[in-house]
Amino acid sequence: MPLLVMKFGGTSVANLDRIRRAAKRVGVEVAKGYDVIVIVSAMSGKTNELVGWVNETSPLYDAREYDAVVSSGENVTAGLMALTLQEMDVPARSWQGWQVPLKTTSAHSQARIEEIGTDNINAKFGEGMRVAVVAGFQGISPEGRITTLGRGGSDTTAVAFAAAFGAERCDIYTDVDGVYTTDPRICDKARKLDKIAFEEMLELASLGAKVLQTRSVELAMRYKVKLRVLSSFEEQSDEAGTLVCDEEEIMESNVVNGVAYSRDEAKLTCLSVADRPGIAATIFGCLSDAGVNVDMIVQNISEDGRTDMTFSCPTDQVKRAEVALNGFKEKGELNYAELVADTTVAKISVVGIGMRSQSGVAAKMFKVLSDEGINIKVITTSEIKISVLVDRKYMELAVQALHDAFDLDKAS
Ligand code: ASP
Ligand code: MG
Repeated sequence: MPLLVMKFGGTSVANLDRIRRAAKRVGVEVAKGYDVIVIVSAMSGKTNELVGWVNETSPLYDAREYDAVVSSGENVTAGLMALTLQEMDVPARSWQGWQVPLKTTSAHSQARIEEIGTDNINAKFGEGMRVAVVAGFQGISPEGRITTLGRGGSDTTAVAFAAAFGAERCDIYTDVDGVYTTDPRICDKARKLDKIAFEEMLELASLGAKVLQTRSVELAMRYKVKLRVLSSFEEQSDEAGTLVCDEEEIMESNVVNGVAYSRDEAKLTCLSVADRPGIAATIFGCLSDAGVNVDMIVQNISEDGRTDMTFSCPTDQVKRAEVALNGFKEKGELNYAELVADTTVAKISVVGIGMRSQSGVAAKMFKVLSDEGINIKVITTSEIKISVLVDRKYMELAVQALHDAFDLDKAS
């Protein structure tokens, strides 16, 4: 029988009533003739509560026990979803990650999936089970301990199951009705996209569009899993939501398909560092050891053998970066005149696969910002993305102006 993976996020299973609504959606697909693997998140707010309990009990917690605790939210919803389906006379049972088994690395709290065993679940499908309800976000390490896949990890569970079982599609049910050209909360002209290419979604997800965990998009792209994002709160047709797919499946596309922003960026500069081989390796090695997630990097031209090195990182990692770099400086492993931090910046990015074949996107972006009197502090580009840092107070204006200038409110 053809197989579908349906994933329900926290708001879609927030209470028994919502679980019943989600189960009805599953029932519709079963009636169409699909076998279904349902991946569930914890009830909304539950994982945060569990994380809070862990932190309160043990601030420097053992990550193995953190995983034991925070994975439990999904166990509850998996069981409740299976019971709800059974009440609807749909043959269903629940599975925890270790029962599947979903094998992961031992990197607790951010484990990566290594392998999904398909025999156990397929055997049950063979016996007439129509729905396997699987607790998302969790797996088992080689040591036999429970692991979790990082916040938002149920998306990745869903895509991995779709790949492992060769599902026709992976539907991600959430509280928004699809992927938008930008955040509708700050730009009322934001438009829902019918389709978006994997590469674009990957950029948008890593730029902070919270609809999908970045890893899940990476996996979908690698295994060519057709991914659909749709709302569990609306009546759904087969065309609902946004399809994340191969670019070949998208006939027409705008040059730019999305404007993303990230509010909590900070810019740090090591002023006047000696410009010699190994200096970048030392600075970024030090930051990486300290667990700082560096995003943009800019090195100035050097003068008299000295240069400035600028990078961006999340605002809440600035202290950590400062402590690490100053520590290196005191040990004599680094020599810079001053470390300056600017914590009032925001990152704005335009994303589109059309950029690969069309020039002038960067020029247009910079012109739009300059017409609004917005100063650009740092620029980086990739093949399908241009990002700038600007003063945070201009963030919304910049997003709206770019959305207008690239005609994102109109379908191509
Ligand atoms: N419940 C987990 C979280 O809140 C995993 C997920 O829902 O995707 O991060
Ligand atoms: Mg999520």
